[in-house]
Amino acid sequence: MRVAVISDIHGNLHALEAVLSALEDDRPDAVWCLGDLVGYGPRPNPCCAKTAAWADVCLVGNHDLGVLGSISLEAFSDEAAASARWTQEVLNEEPRAYLEALEPAAKVRGAELYHASPRDPVWEYVIDELTIRAAFADTSAPLVLVGHSHVPIVAGLDGDQLSASHAPEGTEIELGRGRVLLNPGSVGQPRDGDARAAWLMLDLGAGTGEFRRLEYPVERTQEEMRERGLPETLAERLEHGL
Ligand code: ZN
Repeated sequence: MRVAVISDIHGNLHALEAVLSALEDDRPDAVWCLGDLVGYGPRPNPCCAKTAAWADVCLVGNHDLGVLGSISLEAFSDEAAASARWTQEVLNEEPRAYLEALEPAAKVRGAELYHASPRDPVWEYVIDELTIRAAFADTSAPLVLVGHSHVPIVAGLDGDQLSASHAPEGTEIELGRGRVLLNPGSVGQPRDGDARAAWLMLDLGAGTGEFRRLEYPVERTQEEMRERGLPETLAERLEHGL
């Protein structure tokens, strides 16, 4: 079974469309989305509609919950809060209902999925040795998937031996030797210095996987953000992948 894992789309329709057109060619058996469909970006409604059409499993993220009013925007940065408030105004009924039905954690085919971390599926970043160890300790599945940090990572736990690293394009994964924790990176706002949309393809039967990146027209998303009066720093960061 081949599974495409996507996360942190953040209303960036052009980035999402680049990934979906690769999936049209690649034809995975399932698509799993780890949340944050909206927030930051200019096209929340079509991003929700396309994710709803494609994803077999979809989690809700902290930005989605902020836009829904389920969590306070006080913990957000000024720019993130401003874009969340703008998204609240433009979000249509159908995408709102879709997001409202989602949870920040799921178990699928023996894998554990979290938007953020196992102990705090909404907010905690799994990004360093301490939080990766905790994520393994709080789960038991051979495969754990997290999003939220927008940085693709691959981590392994073999006995007590922990390995963890950034996972640039082309990083290959071997499942089945010890336990594995993966973050696919972000489709719509990558933060690892590579501006291209990030996602992950897994072959659960073969026990393999690969981190992928795709070019998309960043300037079109930036243009849409400026037209809508979204914070300039959020538009600018997209071209640097930060
Ligand atoms: Zn996010």
